Amino acid sequence: MKLGIVVPCYNEEEVISETASRLLALHSSLVSADQIEVESKIYFVDDGSKDRTWPIIEELSRQHSNITGIKLARNCGHQHALLAGLYTAEGDALVSIDADLQDDIRVIGRMVEDFHDGVDVVYGVRKQRDTDTFLKRVTAQTFYKLMKLLGAESIYNHADYRLMSRRAIDGLKQFKEVNLFLRGIVPLIGFRSSIAYYDRTERFAGKSKYPLKRMIGLALNAITSFSVIPLRMITMVGFLLFFATIVIMIWVLYIRFFTTQAVPGWASTVLPIYFIRGIQILCIGVIGEYLGKIYSEVKERPRYIIEKLVNP
Ligand code: UDP
Ligand code: MG
Repeated sequence: MKLGIVVPCYNEEEVISETASRLLALHSSLVSADQIEVESKIYFVDDGSKDRTWPIIEELSRQHSNITGIKLARNCGHQHALLAGLYTAEGDALVSIDADLQDDIRVIGRMVEDFHDGVDVVYGVRKQRDTDTFLKRVTAQTFYKLMKLLGAESIYNHADYRLMSRRAIDGLKQFKEVNLFLRGIVPLIGFRSSIAYYDRTERFAGKSKYPLKRMIGLALNAITSFSVIPLRMITMVGFLLFFATIVIMIWVLYIRFFTTQAVPGWASTVLPIYFIRGIQILCIGVIGEYLGKIYSEVKERPRYIIEKLVNP
């Protein structure tokens, strides 16, 4: 079996050589264990780095026959860099892993074993988050819970460390949306999947390329690409306001006609304000519903992916 390992890199000059040598060591040990073929390759994707990342990758790919360098024209972000790697790399199965090796590379062996057992997608899931900063832990966990609440199921504590078989990659290619949130899409492909647990370690050098701003961006992207619930909430608010308006209307009319407290002009000013506001939000909600439809049509997601055909 030919394996491809895809590593997205953005300003990783401090870690890349070490990462390469560790992955090469893993490569030869897997080859001698007869788990993968010698032709298996490691693909470093340079995501428009501003430092010496690309020269280092270039040098590495000249020195080692099983290292390939892919340079993106500019910084496209982690998800797109990953995608570029997955669509370019060859192999019967591809593993994606971060350049900082926070994810235990020994797990790749287990992933490959599962692949040999006929599993198409193996999710790497971290057991604990002790090594992450408090902020990272809290934001990440809130994110997973929020996603679940909004009806977009994703694998808890799974980042982008996973193995995908060739046909799972082909399935992925049928998702044409531009704002691709891989962690959400991969479960939608289907096929048999399994989970490989591991301990996440600290970055051995360099800083995280995912500052809070980027994490919020990723989360917003994920939610808006997987859920129309925020749009539906507008309709709900509209309905609530509309019913509240009816109650207020009855109260205003009561004050106006059955008491002597009403200031002249009060009822005719106050009533339309509540009434029109309720109608307005309701209308925005209706527009939102249609927007939600357009949005899901425009994505042109595949409606099915065939796993097997018997006697075609
Ligand atoms: N990365 C990338 N493009 C970017 C940002 C990050 O390719 O614009 C890569 C980065 O080099 C690393 C991976 O994505 O291999 C994950 O980034 P990082 O380790 O900084 O994220 P964290 O582990 O802190 O979530
Ligand atoms: Mg990292």
